[in-house]
Amino acid sequence: MTLLDLTPRTATAPRLDALPVVVIGAGPIGLAAAANLVERGIDVVVLEAGEEPAAAVRRWGHIRLFSPWRHLVDPASRRLLEASGWTEPDADAAPTGRELVDAYVAPLAELKPLRSRIRYGSRVLAVAREGMDRTRSAGRETTPFVVRYATADGVVEFAGRQNGYGNVVILQHAGKYSTLYAHQSRIAPGLKKGDRVSQGQVIGYVGSTGWATGPHLHYEFRIAGTPVDPLSVTLPVARKLEPREAKAFAQAVQPYKQQIQMLAQLHQTPLEEPAETVAAR
Ligand SMILES: Cc1cc2nc3c(=O)[nH]c(=O)nc-3n(C[C@H](O)[C@H](O)[C@H](O)COP(=O)(O)OP(=O)(O)OC[C@H]3O[C@@H](n4cnc5c(N)ncnc54)[C@H](O)[C@@H]3O)c2cc1C
Repeated sequence: MTLLDLTPRTATAPRLDALPVVVIGAGPIGLAAAANLVERGIDVVVLEAGEEPAAAVRRWGHIRLFSPWRHLVDPASRRLLEASGWTEPDADAAPTGRELVDAYVAPLAELKPLRSRIRYGSRVLAVAREGMDRTRSAGRETTPFVVRYATADGVVEFAGRQNGYGNVVILQHAGKYSTLYAHQSRIAPGLKKGDRVSQGQVIGYVGSTGWATGPHLHYEFRIAGTPVDPLSVTLPVARKLEPREAKAFAQAVQPYKQQIQMLAQLHQTPLEEPAETVAAR
């Protein structure tokens, strides 16, 4: 959803073909799914809440699994690993969780075809069919999924009202990265500049304040204050697109490119006296 174009995207098969598959979680199974997709030439993005692969297994790393290695290594993952000189552990031995990570999951995540496709620090919050609700379901099966996720922990840089954005929260992340969440009906009670927020923490509620024609979340990923396409920043596409795919992709991103350019030029002036502040609630 965007500030300027609230029309549901046209669902076409070529558009679906041009979009990646999203795998939630870089655990042993999530990475095996990604390896199978890569092997089939299907683009994939892995969203992992933790800062490293198999974050869940690491929590019980000292415990020994009941399964031996022969039942733990996925065949497609084995093929990818072996091509990089990996040696499979003793098939009859059962590893601890830590050994499973160190000898298999972590090396798999580091392989070139997978490494650039995994986004750490990305906790999935919701998954829905794009533009669909209970009253609009025609063409549901050919409509892409929208996956919403919290990018990372951050510090509140701004929480209040700006004219075009309405109720808006801007979070500063590590380095020059920031994210913006606009048109909120209200900001989470007490949230104010300087607060540290964690992944998954509620920072506000969807609404249509500011220049919005209907309730939606306007999201921006910014580098040094300039909105950019997050996909182009964090997800280099390793596979060259077929001409048909490239054409469909160019058509799909054109409206977003225009909007990002306009947003980059848009001068957002904070109101001197915010009509509503979160700290007052
Ligand atoms: C003590 C113990 C012993 C076990 N022994 C065995 C055994 O011997 N054999 C066996 O087959 N299984 C065993 N299991 C089960 C084992 O955990 C699973 O088989 C395996 O870890 C499943 O892998 P997975 O990738 O599906 O899930 P997980 O390992 O749970 O990985 C899920 C990943 O998703 C991430 N994640 C979670 N929520 C989100 C979100 N909202 N957004 C983004 N990322 C998210 C997590 O951080 C995690 O990295 C054992 C489990 C335990 C606790």
